[in-house]
Amino acid sequence: MTPGAAWRVADRFAPFGATIFAEMTRLAIEHDAINLGQGFPDFDGPSFIGGAAREAIEAGPNQYVRTGGHPKLAEAIATFWNQQTGESIDPLGEVTINSGATEALAAAMLGLVNPGDEVVLFEPFYDSYRACVAMAGATPRFVPLRPDATTGKFVFDEAELRAAFTDRTKLVLVNTPHNPTGKVFTRDELTLIGSLCEQHHCIALCDEVYERLTFDDALPHVRMATLPGMRERTLTISSLGKTYSYTGWKIGWAIGPEDLTAGIRAAHQFIVFSVPGALQLGAAAALTSPEGEQSVRDLVAQYAEGREFLCDALESIGLDVFRPDGTYFVMADFARTFGDRFEDDVAFCRHLTGEVKVAAIPPSAFYEHPEMGRHLVRFAFCKRPETLRAAADRLRSLRS
Ligand code: PMP
Ligand code: GLN
Repeated sequence: MTPGAAWRVADRFAPFGATIFAEMTRLAIEHDAINLGQGFPDFDGPSFIGGAAREAIEAGPNQYVRTGGHPKLAEAIATFWNQQTGESIDPLGEVTINSGATEALAAAMLGLVNPGDEVVLFEPFYDSYRACVAMAGATPRFVPLRPDATTGKFVFDEAELRAAFTDRTKLVLVNTPHNPTGKVFTRDELTLIGSLCEQHHCIALCDEVYERLTFDDALPHVRMATLPGMRERTLTISSLGKTYSYTGWKIGWAIGPEDLTAGIRAAHQFIVFSVPGALQLGAAAALTSPEGEQSVRDLVAQYAEGREFLCDALESIGLDVFRPDGTYFVMADFARTFGDRFEDDVAFCRHLTGEVKVAAIPPSAFYEHPEMGRHLVRFAFCKRPETLRAAADRLRSLRS
């Protein structure tokens, strides 16, 4: 390196730059815009969860806890899993507590995928997946999710899915409910993906952080791990953040058989070693108390209303809205009404943030082939009703 020249980010990260979430939140603050970009609630989660963590800070543990996770939280997760699936798992052997789902996903990829292996991703994808594949030195293979012309739902093509699996495939990453499209994968879709996993002897890494946030009883969340033959090859990732509105605590977890758990822990022990014990005990309280369950029901009801309100507001200003079946995001296509004014999604989102004063995410950041997302925009509705009303009022000025 030339003496005096600035150091450069390592090649593996160079293509990714700063995350779109940090960038849009920075812009939102700079322009005093309502932030419907980065997905975080503008209210705090139930206070009893914070209270349980405060008590744990008083009483301890305040030193390192077990690298696989505090046994109480691991127990709580195993109990929750049993209630949801009817399956019993070993909390100490089959649950790992991570620093958010983000770290769980990175540790899974680093701990289980070798350089040269192939990883199948559905496109658009949550941005960290692509960087994780790069960190592992693996090769990504993409399966596009495209809106179906009649239903408006995002779907994949079976032939494209089959073609993405090869004899080098090590892992497929399945995010359901899906960020950013709001898609909830159907049982049939998951069964097909699962059968390809079996055929190619590969792992299903399932990001289910929005597992509780679904809006259509006819399209419930299906856990890949519960499909016949899939338990032994599935790692299920979830986290506290979305379900209990504590995104900043960064408590996540991974559930899977001992051989897959060994992979994730191999990496986890050297990345963070362990996660704050008091926050883990707060998370355990969230999962085990009846108040926690009631709070989830209330949150889903609130988000269902927010979804209707925001989707209607976006439609009324001329966007073509893809109503989400899950998550707290909505994607919309702005081309029909605003395509001639804005060159792409980045220009549209910059205008929204800087002039309309409502921040949103340009979805091209979620695509390997950014042209697929250049007419789209993603909004988050995990906000108080008054925040959504104020945002809708501002968005109406787009038409003038
Ligand atoms: N996966 C998906 C699909 C997400 O939307 C997010 C973001 N919130 C994460 C993982 C990261 O979750 P955490 O904040 O628990 O790291
Ligand atoms: N998952 C959140 C989103 O999609 C962002 C989380 C983050 O900024 N890391 O908006």
